Amino acid sequence: MSEKIAIIGGGVAGLTAGYLLNDFHQVTLFEKDERLGGNVYTLDTKTGEEIDISVFFWSPRLYPNFAKLLKKLDIKLTTKPMEGLSQSFRNLLTRRDYYLSCDLTKPRSTFSAKNFKSAVYQIMALWNYIKIVRMFRKGQLEGLTLRQALKFCPALKGDLLKLAIFPVCVMTSMLWEELMDTPTEFVVAKIEKQMGTPLKFASWRLYPCKTRVYIEKLAAPLKNKIRLNAGIKAVARNGRSVVLKMEDDTEEFFDKVVFACPADTALRLLAEPTDEEKKLLSPWRYNDGLVIVHTDKSNYPPEDLWAMYSYLYTDEDGAINTSINAHYRFQNGVPDDSGYIGCQHPNIPIDKDKIEFQKVFRTPIYDNRSSGTIRELPSLNGINNTYYCGSYFGYGLHEDAVTSAVNVSRSLGAVWT
Ligand SMILES: Cc1cc2nc3c(=O)[nH]c(=O)nc-3n(C[C@H](O)[C@H](O)[C@H](O)COP(=O)(O)OP(=O)(O)OC[C@H]3O[C@@H](n4cnc5c(N)ncnc54)[C@H](O)[C@@H]3O)c2cc1C
Repeated sequence: MSEKIAIIGGGVAGLTAGYLLNDFHQVTLFEKDERLGGNVYTLDTKTGEEIDISVFFWSPRLYPNFAKLLKKLDIKLTTKPMEGLSQSFRNLLTRRDYYLSCDLTKPRSTFSAKNFKSAVYQIMALWNYIKIVRMFRKGQLEGLTLRQALKFCPALKGDLLKLAIFPVCVMTSMLWEELMDTPTEFVVAKIEKQMGTPLKFASWRLYPCKTRVYIEKLAAPLKNKIRLNAGIKAVARNGRSVVLKMEDDTEEFFDKVVFACPADTALRLLAEPTDEEKKLLSPWRYNDGLVIVHTDKSNYPPEDLWAMYSYLYTDEDGAINTSINAHYRFQNGVPDDSGYIGCQHPNIPIDKDKIEFQKVFRTPIYDNRSSGTIRELPSLNGINNTYYCGSYFGYGLHEDAVTSAVNVSRSLGAVWT
């Protein structure tokens, strides 16, 4: 039977749920911003480049539901291997630069005399990662945070430690201190989920298209059913129906609600959360990470050391602070000489005349408490006419956002074949 379903949040999770439920129910999707996509953002630069600010790699093998969704949307999976996992590092205090490339198809540049120290560091970092994975598989790291597990790798220290850990900061969108408090089990599983095993790094692929393409395609059949600038203020449930309170205090009634917004927002919106909702949603905290897109090269390594990511860091009395900088010229479809840089968690002065865009992106923080809820989160679905989805149902990845939305949609009668 067709029901009136409200979806709160127009990120990839909410849009996937809306797209799949639309054939079976009367769907209305509420998005608080003036645009759809949430953390998915394609920027049109002044120079006519199209840049994906967030989300630009995935592997079809490791993201089966997302790959299936793109296929349903008739988006061709013409994926392109990444040109090695090149990354560069600059210690802002010593001005020392490192350049790492895992592209073993180009051993000359990877192991060149110029990069000799970096290459040695790279091998040591990888060796230590394999050691951690082995210990983890033997159950020797059970219950330990990453900070505790790293004590078993005394060789990882100084700049080498940063070279080994910063790439994980990229994958998790977490700051150093947040990452150190993350369970090792989660970190290892997340790396394998996003990149495969260390020997299968090559399975990484760049997105086949700009991310806004699939956002637009997901939204197309929902035309007239999407409300932008429509932040929901409160949600009440009375056993039979769900009442959504808008910013202007008007109310709308639905049979069911799907929360596709961050977990902490969902809990805040609920008028009377159940004990289970409090237990499973309250552990979630979010990182409000600022990303600045600019063309100011002054604090960066020389351009021949530019890589997919540069990390600019300081280490003062053990307080480690890094910005994560995406060099968009390495992104699919962006000119090779593009000067645009996306600086996440900025820790350098940036010439304001060279700033073209800035935005805060909210991403989940995975500590012992929050990651401990993941297995139980699906048990909230269907209780009190309420459903939940979003990337926090897994490892914070696109695949997790899509999979959780598929699961919610299927339990509401949608077909996923
Ligand atoms: C810099 C960066 C890089 C990333 N790179 C990758 C990558 O390479 N690969 C990958 O798999 N993942 C990546 N991610 C993770 C990616 O963000 C997630 O995979 C996914 O986009 C999250 O989707 P979501 O729908 O769960 O949440 P969101 O995108 O956060 O969507 C939630 C939506 O809810 C809306 N909302 C909130 N409150 C309300 C309210 N009260 N009323 C109405 N609407 C509301 C928000 O405005 C937002 O649109 C990256 C993230 C960032 C920030």
